[in-house]
Amino acid sequence: MQINPELCSGCGFCVRDCPVEAVTIVKKKAKIDTVRCTHCNVCFRVCPENAVIATDDAPQGSIACDACPIKCRVPADALGACQRYINENGVLVRTTPVHTFDDVKDQVGPEPLEAIRHPVITAIGSGTTYPCCKPAPYIVSERRNDVDVVTVVTEVPLSYSSVLVKVDTDVNIGAEGAAILVGKRVVGMVETEQYGSKMLHIGGVNRLTGENGFVVARTITDIANKKEVKLKIENGSRLKLQVGKPPMINGKSAGKMRVGCGSAMLGIFTPLLSSVADEVIVLDSHVTGLMSEHVAGSYAGVKPSGISIKFQKSTPGRYFGDHGTGWGSTSIQHPEDIVKSIDLSIAREGLTLLITETTGQNMAMFKVDHQGGLDSIPLTDKAKFALKTIGDSCEPSLVSAMYTAGTGGSARAGVTKFPIKLTRAVQDCRANLTIGGAQTFVMPGGGISFIVDVNRVKSGAFYWTPTPATICPVEYTMTTTDYEAIGGHIEAMKPFTAQEPDNLSSP
Ligand code: SF4
Ligand code: SF4
Repeated sequence: MQINPELCSGCGFCVRDCPVEAVTIVKKKAKIDTVRCTHCNVCFRVCPENAVIATDDAPQGSIACDACPIKCRVPADALGACQRYINENGVLVRTTPVHTFDDVKDQVGPEPLEAIRHPVITAIGSGTTYPCCKPAPYIVSERRNDVDVVTVVTEVPLSYSSVLVKVDTDVNIGAEGAAILVGKRVVGMVETEQYGSKMLHIGGVNRLTGENGFVVARTITDIANKKEVKLKIENGSRLKLQVGKPPMINGKSAGKMRVGCGSAMLGIFTPLLSSVADEVIVLDSHVTGLMSEHVAGSYAGVKPSGISIKFQKSTPGRYFGDHGTGWGSTSIQHPEDIVKSIDLSIAREGLTLLITETTGQNMAMFKVDHQGGLDSIPLTDKAKFALKTIGDSCEPSLVSAMYTAGTGGSARAGVTKFPIKLTRAVQDCRANLTIGGAQTFVMPGGGISFIVDVNRVKSGAFYWTPTPATICPVEYTMTTTDYEAIGGHIEAMKPFTAQEPDNLSSP
């Protein structure tokens, strides 16, 4: 890598972003330390003045690393751009040894005892004792494998609650951060995307206590109870969502979830796709793949095609897409429009090009003509087989949801006289928190903020009240010894009798 001092403005972007601190500013111009430079191209990509010249001048003794698409040339006694590999005496060595579970178990921390993993009874149907200073509605004990355990249950009204909804689809539903509406009322916002899914966050204390609180509470509860809800994304799509069912987006059912991004598709399917066409483009709004340039193409012996594409290059064969209503949820409406140019000094007349998407829903084939144009041709039998193979590898699109809330407030008083001791017991895994019997993930840090998969909770277990708040069946299970230690309401504890549940009378 070299710097063109005529173009360099000394802005320092390359210094800021170089992962191995190989760039300094000397006399207001960037200077690259070629002994440390890994040829990762970050400086080339961030320079606003095009002052970085990508050269092939890796110093003697450097080793090409193929652990990721960057393919660093790691110099002698130096680290790669990711800091994971070091060139030690001409051998690439991982800087951290492989860890056994014993190596990390202190970090991982405690897990709940087997005896307290499941509640004695659930809180579904238990009711609430209001105000919270009274003992919880049911405090029930039983003996399990020589351990006395107790479960304290209550249906807690929670103002600090929301649902995180995962919608499996590649379809562009609207911008991250866009408001989510029920009718004209805002109930949430679009979150960051996950792999093959859009994430929606609905509710939260500020919306529940705001002017739209009732509709927010009802929407959270309906989603958590696996009922259908109709939502509109501001400047985006209309959605009909129900946990466990395919999402309906603008009246159309989303069929399939992607196998992976355009690059991952090539990683998986290049052996198949390279037998179908000379060049393959997988259109994707995140990472569009170009087979002949991609590491999977090189590995399979695919020759350069002379075809270049329009999106911004990240690493060889991987291009950042854009967002739209076209193929692969990009702006490309006609697949051949992704092609920027065809270099006839490399391409030949008759070279075949296949363009598809990450779900394999659409596929098109072309042939390069003698002038470097593209002629559409029908899908061959091999292409149809590839299309079916990709489609068969996709999972069905579904809607799922996690209910998330904080129950570290006054409801703790129904469990113990010393609420902070309950919080600590939950954090130390001495008290196990379940929701309708389903295991929760308790968030790290202070309080008792948890997440639970609503699909594991019985439909109809969630309610809402015009406080407004959502009502959630909360269970704490611990050994009776621990319950005594945290100052639990031992006097209200009753033994569980499966045959006579009515004997568990409320205090
Ligand atoms: S190519 Fe990478 S390692 Fe080398 S100077 Fe540029 S940013 Fe730093
Ligand atoms: S980013 Fe470009 S212009 Fe800015 S200091 Fe580095 S080489 Fe010079």
